[in-house]
Amino acid sequence: MKNTLAVDLIQRQHGKPEDGICGVWCFDQTTKEVITLSADAIVIATGGVGQLWAKTTNPSVATGDGVAMAYRSGAAVKDMAFIQFHPTALAIENGRPFLITEALRGEGGVILDYEGLKSWQEECKHSFTKGIEPPSPDKFSFTLAFSDLGSMATRDIVARAIDQNLKQTGNKYAFLVTSHLDKDMLMNSFPNMQNHLDKYNLKLGYDDLPVSPAAHYIVGGLDVDDFGRPRTKDGQGIIEHLYAIGEVACTGMHGANRLASNSLLEAVVFADKAATHIINNPPKSVTHELPEWRADGLDILTEHSPIVNDLAMLKDTMSSEVGIVRNNGRLNRAARRIKLLEKEIDIIWKSSIPSRQIVELRNLIQVANLVIEDALLRTENRGLHFNTDLV
Ligand SMILES: Cc1cc2nc3c(=O)[nH]c(=O)nc-3n(C[C@H](O)[C@H](O)[C@H](O)COP(=O)(O)OP(=O)(O)OC[C@H]3O[C@@H](n4cnc5c(N)ncnc54)[C@H](O)[C@@H]3O)c2cc1C
Repeated sequence: MKNTLAVDLIQRQHGKPEDGICGVWCFDQTTKEVITLSADAIVIATGGVGQLWAKTTNPSVATGDGVAMAYRSGAAVKDMAFIQFHPTALAIENGRPFLITEALRGEGGVILDYEGLKSWQEECKHSFTKGIEPPSPDKFSFTLAFSDLGSMATRDIVARAIDQNLKQTGNKYAFLVTSHLDKDMLMNSFPNMQNHLDKYNLKLGYDDLPVSPAAHYIVGGLDVDDFGRPRTKDGQGIIEHLYAIGEVACTGMHGANRLASNSLLEAVVFADKAATHIINNPPKSVTHELPEWRADGLDILTEHSPIVNDLAMLKDTMSSEVGIVRNNGRLNRAARRIKLLEKEIDIIWKSSIPSRQIVELRNLIQVANLVIEDALLRTENRGLHFNTDLV
């Protein structure tokens, strides 16, 4: 169904998640009406939550709808604090930032800050005047203070290194330097990247690329069993007839620190498991009439006022307080701000005709709470969660 946004799941027995799901309420963005769809089984595949942060590689639809919907219906979540930030998103666009692949660093690209770049360039000049081989930029990288692997360290370490460097220097980005590399090799190996960089007059092998981290992938999500079935919040069972696959699910396969490129494989494997389970265990058809959305009679609904500033406030809070490097003070501050926002949006939600904006903002707020709660409950730094109070 085109232009149709799932809003909430319908339980077979209201208040009894273990009895399963029998349908979904959806917002038809064309007619602006909420429709009731019955379903013998439902597979949630709504993707990630990157829109919680001001800077993300994720598409605009990554608003955590599936996590929020299933959570409201009694599903458990897991590892929500494990958010992967990609270290090298191109830092010159207003829109969705372009991702500079790790393969560029694999071919020898090096991350430098402004100081490192200046020092390296000066040493290169010095070498030219002396007629000797210019030095490699590697040893000028601030990332060496975080790992002997420097720019080639794992995503979490490089992202943390850049984050700290930007906070300390006040700079907006670091540089990914490729001018010491073979220019033909770069053009042949990264033609798509060069096509994108052309828009900004940047050339691989010549120009230093401005980069900064961006929210990229949520490792946590709906806590599912081996067939992709979400567990109930009390941990005692699963939600019948409900499945979650892809980024919305937390299968445990990524541990606490996803390796690049594993998620599509995980999505395919768990999609197959879920499909096979549904085929082998056909759900009972839904025969009873489903309740209409808001059949419990709320006030007369009106169009809501603009909520763009509320979304901006949420993203701002998550970006500054619940980013790559966290501490308890900032997490608690974020929790307080988001609780206030939640109250405001709840009032609007209850009195308004739905819109994509309010459906998504409500979900984002719910997911933000879950990320912060998990982060505050953690007692050790592991994988993608790093809290300076736990060092
Ligand atoms: C730039 C980038 C590069 C990546 N590169 C790799 C890579 O090389 N290898 C790898 O393994 N992974 C990679 N990933 C991660 C991987 O692409 C994602 O994890 C994966 O695409 C998620 O797939 P999904 O099906 O779970 O969600 P998505 O592909 O995001 O699909 C979700 C769908 O659900 C729809 N939807 C959302 N909410 C609702 C709603 N309420 N109602 C109805 N529909 C809804 C959306 O419109 C969308 O169509 C990359 C991610 C990004 C952002």
